[in-house]
Amino acid sequence: MSKLALLGGNPVREASIPWVNTMGSEETEAVLAVMNSGCLSAYYGRAGDKFLGGPKVLEMEQVFAQKFGSRFAISVNSATTALHTAIAACGIGPGDEVLVTPYSMVASATAIVMNNAVPVFVDIDPITYNLDPTQIERWITPNTKAIMVANIFGLPAALNEIITIARKHGLFVIEDNAQGPGATINGKFAGTFGDIGVFSLNYHKVIHSGEGGLLLTDNEELARNCQLVRNHGEAVVDDLNDYETVVLGSNYRMTELHAAIGIEQLKKLDHFLVERRRLAQQFTSGLNQFTGLKGVVVPDGYEHSYYIYPIQYNKEDWGISRSTFAQAMNAEGYPLGIGYVKPIYLIPMYQHKKVYNQTQYPFSLIEKPTQDYQKGLCPVTEAMYEEKVVIADVCRLPYKESDIDDALEAIQKIWMERGKLLEYEAYTVSRT
Ligand SMILES: *Cc1c(COP(=O)(O)O)cnc(C)c1O
Repeated sequence: MSKLALLGGNPVREASIPWVNTMGSEETEAVLAVMNSGCLSAYYGRAGDKFLGGPKVLEMEQVFAQKFGSRFAISVNSATTALHTAIAACGIGPGDEVLVTPYSMVASATAIVMNNAVPVFVDIDPITYNLDPTQIERWITPNTKAIMVANIFGLPAALNEIITIARKHGLFVIEDNAQGPGATINGKFAGTFGDIGVFSLNYHKVIHSGEGGLLLTDNEELARNCQLVRNHGEAVVDDLNDYETVVLGSNYRMTELHAAIGIEQLKKLDHFLVERRRLAQQFTSGLNQFTGLKGVVVPDGYEHSYYIYPIQYNKEDWGISRSTFAQAMNAEGYPLGIGYVKPIYLIPMYQHKKVYNQTQYPFSLIEKPTQDYQKGLCPVTEAMYEEKVVIADVCRLPYKESDIDDALEAIQKIWMERGKLLEYEAYTVSRT
């Protein structure tokens, strides 16, 4: 479909801005130094001084722990493996249940299933998109061991409220903070509220090393368990006197190269966040001038890290469908996503409860299932996915103030032309 078919005239922007390369000479030099040392990974999967990795890995853990104010940092090779590490470190396993938000990247829930525990999905708040604390207690059973919270889009969840509930019921709290590095509540960093907080250094995230992940905790026993899971724990536990838990390990180790990049990227985080927050503030005030659009709401005392900027779209006000709105924005040079992610329980693995061949394991370990993952389970999440949420990716470098102005101009143009778009919509529907 040509752009002109959609709106006529010139698009506000000819082509969308590409992804920015945040790798500079600092990262290049740090990587070269590792290359020249020849030591690309110093780990041994056995007890001894190399059980915890080489110099860059140890340095990276130290600078992350310092920056966010945690006692321990444990690096791994992705946030996905970090989330599994966290579940395993807390001793969560077969027959256990973990409460989790369905409105997150699939890994938040997969981590639970990876250790043969069962996710129980708790609906979200329609303003913050994060786990709704008032919905938690109805789902707690004698099997519940933890709450997995995601700080979605970079906004911390209601962590103080959630932790109060968790303490009352003796549950662990694991924070999936892959999207929220540098976000805060009253100055305290997201990722340091729960028993364990998880960070991502994946290419798409606010800071990255290509792939990479990290766990933060103040709890020494949990930190040690994480180290065991990361590096073939079952092989070493005999020889390490101060590691008492028996856990199944894997190879989740980060390379020295990735650690060297991560150290340099962390130094840039504050700068990236200043830019993201400045653009987001401008975008929010512009968006809120429109009927039928709602920008991000940041609760008092919270700071957002704007990994992604979610807009709430109201079809009743606009007349045109969310998808037509997004197509029109795309034609104007501002690609938008719709819905974010499908509620996790609606994906086939949960619908069929099939993980291992034809068995229903691990779901079958819960005698009377707490949830059967039916549609309608989390109505707020489903409404966000199906009707409301539009994802904009303009609050980041290399976008600048004038780009935000242009995006708002494109929205204004679509608002003025929505009659024409309604005709277009009727035409495309009649042809299918
Ligand atoms: C990206 C992401 C992950 C996974 O991170 P990786 O480092 O790519 O494994 C997990 N949870 C959330 C919320 C994410 O956005």
